[in-house]
Amino acid sequence: MSLPIRPGRSPASRASVSTLETQIPDSKFQITNPPPLSPSPVLDLAALAAWARPGTSLAVLGHPIRHSISPPMHNAALAGLAGGDPRFADWEYFRFDIPPTDLPRALELLHARRFRGVNLTVPHKVLAFDRVAHIDDAARPVGAVNTLRWHADGWEGFNTDGYGLATAIRETFGRELAGADVILLGAGGAARGAAVECLQRGCASLAVANRTAANLEALLRDLAPLAAASRCRGFSPAEPPRDLPAGALVINATSAGLRDSDPLPVDLGALPRPAAVYDMIYNPPQTRLLAAAAALGLPAANGLDMLVHQGARALEIWSGVPAARTAPAMAAAARAALGRQ
Ligand code: NDP
Repeated sequence: MSLPIRPGRSPASRASVSTLETQIPDSKFQITNPPPLSPSPVLDLAALAAWARPGTSLAVLGHPIRHSISPPMHNAALAGLAGGDPRFADWEYFRFDIPPTDLPRALELLHARRFRGVNLTVPHKVLAFDRVAHIDDAARPVGAVNTLRWHADGWEGFNTDGYGLATAIRETFGRELAGADVILLGAGGAARGAAVECLQRGCASLAVANRTAANLEALLRDLAPLAAASRCRGFSPAEPPRDLPAGALVINATSAGLRDSDPLPVDLGALPRPAAVYDMIYNPPQTRLLAAAAALGLPAANGLDMLVHQGARALEIWSGVPAARTAPAMAAAARAALGRQ
């Protein structure tokens, strides 16, 4: 099956912000090796309502949130920064379990309590999109935000997932999304961000596969303003078209692989031989798709580096510290945290 793309609704428009408009100038601090961190408690709306911490606070909101390794990742980077620059001595990152119905109130409270920045994870990325006062140009076509920055008028919204993906693919495979043929698996929030990033960076072609045809069609409709139909198409993962390009970058943005019992999101053997396979799933670190890629002798990697780079970019938006400086400390902390789970 091959689906055409049609023009569709574009996500809400509102004031733009530039991605790296920062209030704290870059500095020459050293990233030191911080001591091991104690686990961050899981907080709730009541804790937010009673918030009286005087320092600079950051947070991730999700539901559930217990599994998130963002607090150790960010706090390791912040502890390293604080070792070389006293401005970061009172910065700390917290996690809150916030059900979707409580998200509007939580965002109001976080703003009133002057949290400098917020990350959003499942299921809040799309829900929060309509609750930001300003939206970054790159996040607008995604229709979802994973990073908010405090501003006197309200939240500024960004999406750093695409940057995380592009950076991970460059570092892991030595390849750019620009000029690449991409086969993207999935049509949910992560796939939406990946598709927009691929098209905005100038991929040569994008073929998107998804289990549920209606969800695929909806995504393709939203992508239509970004790409000519010749550059972007959809297909059923059960019936990959014969004319898909060889040497493509296969990116799994489905959640198939989170459980051992999950089916493969696509049969790699049914595709023209890809160049490499990137699975956004990082926990478990080895999925059936990655095992299938290894069996075919294909370069393959899980999503941990994407997680690290989206986090480092979020911290850059809040702090002004270039993502490349904090990513190594975040990567070490993320690996250690996963090792403890
Ligand atoms: P969504 O729930 O929005 O989308 C889920 C997608 O997976 C849909 O396309 C869905 O297809 C598909 N899917 C689910 N189960 C199956 C299955 N059994 N077989 C085939 N397809 C299936 O989730 P997200 O887009 O937010 O996240 C997707 C994955 O990406 C998750 O594993 C998440 O952990 C990972 N991720 C990793 C990040 C990182 O930094 N490494 C960042 C963001 C996400 P259908 O439409 O048919 O339901």
